[in-house]
Amino acid sequence: MATSTSRTFQLPATEELRLEVRQGHTILIKLLDGTAEIFGTELYLGTPIELHGQKTAVYTWHGCKLELLASGSDLNEALESVYPAGETPMQEYVNVHSLLEQRRATAKEAGPVYSARSEGPRTLLVGPTDVGKSSLCKILCNYAVRMQWSPTMIDLDIGQGAITAPGSIGATPIEAPLDIEEGPPLEVPLIYYYGHVTPSVNPDLYRHLVECLAALLKRRHSMNLDAANSGLVINTMGWVTDLGLDLLYHTIKALQVDVILVLGDDKLYNTLHQHCRQSRNVTVFRLPKSGGVVVRDPTLRKTSRTNRVREYFYGPRNRLRPHSQTVSLRELSIYRIGGGPQAPSSALPIGMKAFSEPLRFLYVTDVDPVRQTVTYLAPCLGPVPGKYLLLGSLKVMMQ
Ligand code: ADP
Repeated sequence: MATSTSRTFQLPATEELRLEVRQGHTILIKLLDGTAEIFGTELYLGTPIELHGQKTAVYTWHGCKLELLASGSDLNEALESVYPAGETPMQEYVNVHSLLEQRRATAKEAGPVYSARSEGPRTLLVGPTDVGKSSLCKILCNYAVRMQWSPTMIDLDIGQGAITAPGSIGATPIEAPLDIEEGPPLEVPLIYYYGHVTPSVNPDLYRHLVECLAALLKRRHSMNLDAANSGLVINTMGWVTDLGLDLLYHTIKALQVDVILVLGDDKLYNTLHQHCRQSRNVTVFRLPKSGGVVVRDPTLRKTSRTNRVREYFYGPRNRLRPHSQTVSLRELSIYRIGGGPQAPSSALPIGMKAFSEPLRFLYVTDVDPVRQTVTYLAPCLGPVPGKYLLLGSLKVMMQ
């Protein structure tokens, strides 16, 4: 194929351009005319956006002209695939958004003093892996922000870590459209470190952390009416059978979910519909999966997990400079949280600390048994802010 540095695409209304940028490659995308959005974040006319190894779609409600530009030498080499598609589930997704809007408006009508009726929709996105849950989560948050709400995005997918590093669950308020290059805002995230990429290692700890998250969000809502009215958008992991299903039931209860969106799994829809039948407060909807969603094989999932950890330290554009430091083992107490029904109380301080401590996550790069030292990477310079470290089972190889 001949080398190319740019390509333009004219999209009619309600079509999308699906793109797969190869891992390790970057391209630029520019809106030349009309309106367009990436998972609900609008593109500015004439302002190029970088896409690094991403699989994504640029959707237009009213028609647009787009230009793709090579960031290195050859656009064709950077792109695994690029094609326009007319069949998308965006109309169904915007219908759900309208329903959530009605619930937010009703919550606001409850008045200026917080009460249970001030709570906006608490939406749970469920389905197997690679059905578009994370993408719909972004769309619903962005559409809410565009209507002047500030929803809280919650990520319970410990395998991928959409808000922060994998192995954690967390929440973050969304007060502006999501940055396409940077992802969710991290000014005031609430993160609990679970330490593993599957809940089966310690399901009780996982449940405990979800309950801690729910309790803190409840407190925040009682003090922040706008956050309460705007509601929650909760992304979940793709494990939807056996223990995975039990954990979904637990999440529904702990976070007092009242809208469940099931993507691409009829059996799961029926199971959840039956489960919630007794509860008049919970509505379960079935939504189609987009034909553009890319199925990631285990190797690709592992690579994207490693990339997320790398991004945590180096930033999505590789512009941050984390610090490598060495500390004597004598200065540290290292804990591993065991299984069993009672998670030790040491689980709590680490999650609570992460809220305010500058040092939230260490990546251990070397352990020297002779000198009895640990070398680690930290987002900021200075001594370890506490001597208690919580050991997880997450292992990644960062280059
Ligand atoms: P899940 O959260 O269910 O695992 P994701 O929303 O992460 O699924 O989607 C899987 C991959 O497919 C992601 O890389 C995402 O960016 C991509 N993707 C989602 N929707 C589309 C689309 N319409 N066109 C192209 N890629 C898409």
